[in-house]
Amino acid sequence: MRAHYFEVAVTETVVELVGKQILVVGLGKSGLAAARLALRMGAQVTVCDEKPLAETRFAAEVAELGVSYLPQGKAVGASFDLVIQSPGVPLEAKVFAGAKVTGELEFAAPLLYGRTIGITGSNGKTTTTALIGHILKHAQVPAQVGGNIGTPPTAMVADSRVGQWNVLELSSFQLETIQSFRADIGLILNLTPDHLDRHHTMERYVDAKARLIELQTRANVAVLNAGDPLTAGLAKRTRAQVVYFNAKEPGPWMVAEKDGVISVDEQALLPVAAIPLRGQHNVENVMAAAAATWLANVALDDIEAAIRTFPGVEHRLEFVRELAEIRYYNDSKATNVDATEKALDAFEGGLWVILGGKDKQSDYRGLAGRLRRKARRILLIGMAAEIIRRQLEEVEPGLPFLDCGTLEEAVRVGHAEGQSGDTVLLAPACASFDQFQSYEHRGRVFKELVQNLE
Ligand code: ADP
Repeated sequence: MRAHYFEVAVTETVVELVGKQILVVGLGKSGLAAARLALRMGAQVTVCDEKPLAETRFAAEVAELGVSYLPQGKAVGASFDLVIQSPGVPLEAKVFAGAKVTGELEFAAPLLYGRTIGITGSNGKTTTTALIGHILKHAQVPAQVGGNIGTPPTAMVADSRVGQWNVLELSSFQLETIQSFRADIGLILNLTPDHLDRHHTMERYVDAKARLIELQTRANVAVLNAGDPLTAGLAKRTRAQVVYFNAKEPGPWMVAEKDGVISVDEQALLPVAAIPLRGQHNVENVMAAAAATWLANVALDDIEAAIRTFPGVEHRLEFVRELAEIRYYNDSKATNVDATEKALDAFEGGLWVILGGKDKQSDYRGLAGRLRRKARRILLIGMAAEIIRRQLEEVEPGLPFLDCGTLEEAVRVGHAEGQSGDTVLLAPACASFDQFQSYEHRGRVFKELVQNLE
């Protein structure tokens, strides 16, 4: 199993790992891909996970690769030459104490051929990353898409080529550990509170995201959201050239929206009404993708045509069905308050909003005004139900709550009581892990429940 990059170039990192003892922490998709790459680089690889091997998804692969496995409690990072962190494992975990730790992005980056577009932000990463991939594909520009979406960066190494773009969706957990990774184009969409259960403070969360542009040089470009002051303010933390999208007022912006038309470097790109996705937040995602692909030298005609045919991404304000003149939308990926606000903003009213799940120590109060104006009922599910109700009642007494407990009951109520023209919207503002394996699982269950309605 020799990948082509062995023949073409042996980077320092490759040489460094031959015969070295590497520990990969976390045996999910990322951990497995990191283990594979480390093996190919000649390292002695051990993986660990907090679950017993048999309960992880990849016990068979571990056996097949012949790597060692340790329960995480028994693994001592400091006794390895290098420890590779899966993004899902907090750096505070005991296994990292005193160890030389790197993340999967920093591990993969020096081995990736081609230039990179790195996309981060609190919300819209996947949508924007997928749209950038869609535009490049339409324009027949060689590219591969991965990162936090689909293929882990370590699994992109083997297929990377000179002259190709690596389009990388990057989470705060992947960025937190970078030391030398430089995106040629670094795009920050927005910054709103999320994952504070892991980063603890907003400042540390913003710091992690800002790494993307802080490490860039003058030869790189940082693409920032002019409409989000916190994001735009990061301009002072980079040496890269800075360009802006999402401007409403005149200024030296790359991508702006004026009178219902999006323009790029003052040339009309397309009318906002031609964007096939709902909501102003998606207009922002489109502007961001236009900026990134324009910087990658794609012609405006191609950018425009690709935007018009973009199908969107599953579980992101996804239209499911219309039944008895009630429409159903799956926004299971609205796992934080900001995303739920954007979902509410995308509708005029008549909403049956399904809220709840696993709380991430969020502040739900910002939803109160929108819910008062637009929700016929707030259908609460999962563990966070009480916290949400308590917080919202503090600021907006008398909101129409209904405790449903489960998603099934919430869908049943929406269907039974909704009126013609209403919308049942799953946009829960919470993680899914109390009742589901993942937000995808939650979204699939929702769609199934909806499809089974009669
Ligand atoms: P991410 O990968 O950053 O989580 P997604 O594209 O998966 O972003 O979208 C996550 C959630 O945020 C979805 O509910 C989606 O509708 C919403 N969303 C998408 N783009 C934005 C944006 N620019 N601002 C706020 N919310 C957004």
